[in-house]
Amino acid sequence: MALREQHASALEPADLSVRGLLLDIDRFASHDGPGIRSSVYLKGCPLSCAWCHSPESQLSHPELLYQSERCNGCALCPSTCPESALVMSGTSESAVAVLDRAACTACGECVDVCYTGALKIAGDGVTVGDVLERVARDAPYFKSSGGGVTLSGGEPARQFDFSYNFLLACQQRGIHTALETTGYARREVISALADVTDLILYDVKFIDPAEHQRHTGVPNALILDNLRVLAAAGHDMQVRVPCISGVNDAPDQIRATAAMTAEVGLGSIVLLPYNSAAGAKYEWIDSPFELSHVTTQDEDAMNALADICRAEGLEVQIGG
Ligand code: SF4
Ligand code: SF4
Repeated sequence: MALREQHASALEPADLSVRGLLLDIDRFASHDGPGIRSSVYLKGCPLSCAWCHSPESQLSHPELLYQSERCNGCALCPSTCPESALVMSGTSESAVAVLDRAACTACGECVDVCYTGALKIAGDGVTVGDVLERVARDAPYFKSSGGGVTLSGGEPARQFDFSYNFLLACQQRGIHTALETTGYARREVISALADVTDLILYDVKFIDPAEHQRHTGVPNALILDNLRVLAAAGHDMQVRVPCISGVNDAPDQIRATAAMTAEVGLGSIVLLPYNSAAGAKYEWIDSPFELSHVTTQDEDAMNALADICRAEGLEVQIGG
């Protein structure tokens, strides 16, 4: 039995009744850790990165997603809404539903009648036991591939009780656990989560404090302090850098992140090319997408960034 499993089995049994707010579960994920994995995405994040690839994960409460391009104007939804938040607009040939987001309480009544899938609730109240049961169905695949479960978000530390008990429950059933985190959490919170995690995927966006504040909405001192603490404690960790063209991928910025990674004693770094496919999701929540002009880096550009990291003595992986 691996050391971490021994540690987990020595702890109190996980509380399967703890409730959390789930965004989604992605089965058979091939990124976010080794082998075949189930990625569990929680809702709620203290950061508001302009490039976020799941902006519907940021708020800590359920919200209605509306994909207007899927609306066929059937007009079934307005009469279901107790808040009169949906009205039809346009001519009978070109009618679409229009959502008053301020009036919507995310009750979900309209979703049941929308057979095109234009309306969907993001945020499902679940227990640890519910999610454990769902991911455990794929345990044979995890075992045969060296995979497991990756808890992501949003920011899992934002729902500490749920995240802790879920990770512990997985470990106590012999399922490998990875935690993808922004690192923006109190030290005791992130350390407790790390203690029930086999692999920490630690996002670092900027070393420069002003740039971090400007692009993510929060300072980075806590994130970098936690990075030092977790690395010093000997946790298995990967620093992952979402490389955003023209935002944080200048050579000096990548060099500073690589140097910090080496300084805390980690031997490798993961560079993630910018994912430009997320733009459509911003329309689902009526939020402006500020990076619509930004494109994904080509192979040469990513290789040049990788060389910068290698010069700092790191092994480099490009892509998750
Ligand atoms: S039920 Fe769906 S498809 Fe019909 S009008 Fe409402 S949003 Fe559009
Ligand atoms: S989720 Fe509820 S409140 Fe919001 S638009 Fe639909 S029916 Fe109305």
